[in-house]
Amino acid sequence: MANKDMKHPENVAGKFYTTDSNDMSGQGCISCGLCYSMAPNNFQADDMGAAFVSKQPIDENEEKLCQDAMDSCPVNSIGNDGE
Ligand code: SF4
Repeated sequence: MANKDMKHPENVAGKFYTTDSNDMSGQGCISCGLCYSMAPNNFQADDMGAAFVSKQPIDENEEKLCQDAMDSCPVNSIGNDGE
C-alpha cells in the first residue's frame, strides 16, 4: 500500500492519492507514466513526471480506471485510503 504519510503535495483531497517521489520506503512514484496514461481524467504528471491525483473519480468508470491504475503501479505508489 502507498505511504499515506508521504503524499504528493499536489494530490486533491479524497480517497485516491499518490506517494511523493521523495518517499524512502520504496513506494515513491518513479514517474513510469502508467497511471496518467490509464486514467488521464484523474492523474497528472508534475514538472518532474511524478504522478498526483488531479481529480477524484466521479463515476463508476473513473473509479474502475483509478483502481486499475492503483493495481498496476509497479511500486505501489497509489493508495485509495486517503481523506
Ligand atoms: S503508475 Fe505509479 S510509478 Fe507510475 S507514474 Fe503512476 S504513481 Fe508513478
